[in-house]
Amino acid sequence: MAEQTSVTLEKLVALCKRRGFVYQTADIYGGLNGVYDTGPLGTLLKRNLRNAWIKSLEATGYDILFMEGSVITPEAIWEASGHLEGFQDPMVDCTFCKHRYRADDIDLSKPCPHCGNTAWTEVRQFNLMFKTQVGAAADATSVAYLRPETAQSIFVNFKNVMNSNRVKIPFGIAQIGKAFRNEITPKQFLFRMREFEQMEMEWFCRPETAEEFFRIWCAIRKAFYADIGIAPERIRLRAHEKDELSHYSSETSDVEYQFPFGWKELEGIANRGNFDLSRHMEFSGKDLAVYDDDTKSAFVPHVVETSVGTDRLFLTILFDSYHEDTVEGETRTSLRLHPRLAPYIAAFMPLSKKIAAPLEKIYGELRQKGYMVQYDDSGSIGKRYRRQDEIGTPLCFTYDFESEQDSSVTVRNRDTMAQERISIDQIEAYIKKTLG
Ligand code: ATP
Repeated sequence: MAEQTSVTLEKLVALCKRRGFVYQTADIYGGLNGVYDTGPLGTLLKRNLRNAWIKSLEATGYDILFMEGSVITPEAIWEASGHLEGFQDPMVDCTFCKHRYRADDIDLSKPCPHCGNTAWTEVRQFNLMFKTQVGAAADATSVAYLRPETAQSIFVNFKNVMNSNRVKIPFGIAQIGKAFRNEITPKQFLFRMREFEQMEMEWFCRPETAEEFFRIWCAIRKAFYADIGIAPERIRLRAHEKDELSHYSSETSDVEYQFPFGWKELEGIANRGNFDLSRHMEFSGKDLAVYDDDTKSAFVPHVVETSVGTDRLFLTILFDSYHEDTVEGETRTSLRLHPRLAPYIAAFMPLSKKIAAPLEKIYGELRQKGYMVQYDDSGSIGKRYRRQDEIGTPLCFTYDFESEQDSSVTVRNRDTMAQERISIDQIEAYIKKTLG
C-alpha cells in the first residue's frame, strides 16, 4: 500500500460535491460567491463537530450555559461594540480589469495578479456588516444588521442569563450560531465565507483571574483539536504581537492550522477585559456590574473568549483527514475521520441480496439504538469499500455465504484495510469500542 497524501483544495471541493458534503448555494443558477449549502453527509459531520465542541466544554466541569441569540440585531448593539465604526477591511480595485482585493492581501507596488496592469484606486475602508431593515417603515429606527459575530448577543444577555439561572462568577455562556460578514474577497472554499457558523464561549470572571483563565482556556482549546484527531504537528498556538491586538484585547492567541495555503487562524482566544460589558453599560444605561457578597462591592466581570468557525473547522477536518494511497494499481481516497466525527460509524454489506436477512436485522436494531450506520447492498464489494472510504466510514461489516454457516461477519478497517472475522453478536461491542 503506497502512501501519497497530496491534498489540494480542488480535490476537496470535488469530493464534497460528489459525496454530498457541501454544494455551492443555488448551484443550478450559477451560485452565489462566498455562501454554501451543506449536503446530507456534511450535515452529519457538522452535527458531530458541534457535539464534540459542546462535550469538550461540558467535560471541563465548569459552569457553562448555552444560549441562542437572534441573527437580526438592532444597530445599537453594533454602535456599542465598536463594529459600526471599526469592523472594516481596506479595499482596493484595479481600475483596468475592475478586480477587487483586500488591500492587506496584496502588494500594491506590484501589478494586478489578475490582469498584470498597475492601476490601483485609492485604498478605501469597507464595513463588512450586512445592513437590513426591519418592518415596513424605512427610517432610522428600522435599521438592523445581520450579526457579524455571535459574541455580542451573549454580552447583551449577560444579566438576563445571570438573573434567570442561579449561576455565579466565574461561569461561561456558549453559543453556536450563524454570523454574516460581507467579506471583500471570499476565498478558499469554506475558509472565508460570507455566511458561516461560529461556536463561541464567553467566560465571565473576576478581573484578577482573567490572565490565568486565559492561559487555562488556551490549553483546553488546543487539547480539543488533538482529541478530535487532528495531527498535533499541524496545530499550534500563536500569541498575537502587541501591534496585532484588537483595541479591546490585552492578550490574544490564535489556534492555527497548517493548511496547504499556509498557517492560518482556526480559532481565536482573547482576554477581552471588561471592554464589552462596560460599553454596553455605557450605551444602554443599564447596570451590568455584579455584586460580590464577600467583599460587599460591585465589579464588572472580565471576559475570556474562545471563538471558532464551524465551517472553518469542517474544512480543517477534511484537509487533515484526506488521504490517498495506491491499492492494486488504483488510487484509493479515504477520509481518516475520527470515529466520533465520521458521518457513519459503519456500513453493512451483504455479499448477495439473497442472504441479507440476518445482517438487515442487526442493522435495523442498531439504527433504532441511535447508531449512525448505513446499509449498502449495491455494486461490487470493492466499489462499496471505496465509497465508504471516501466518506470516512471507519468500519464495514460484510456478510457472505460462510456467514450463513458460522453466524460471523468480516469487519474491515478503513485505514489499515485489515479484515477480521467476528461473530454477529459482537458487532455492537465492536462499534462501541471503535467509538471509544
Ligand atoms: P480572519 O482574520 O481570518 O478574518 P478574524 O480574526 O476576523 O478572522 P474572528 O472575528 O476572530 O476572525 O472570528 C472567530 C472565528 O470565526 C475565526 O477563527 C474563524 O474560525 C471564524 N471565521 C471568521 N470569519 C470567517 C469567515 N469569513 N468564514 C468562515 N469562518 C470565519
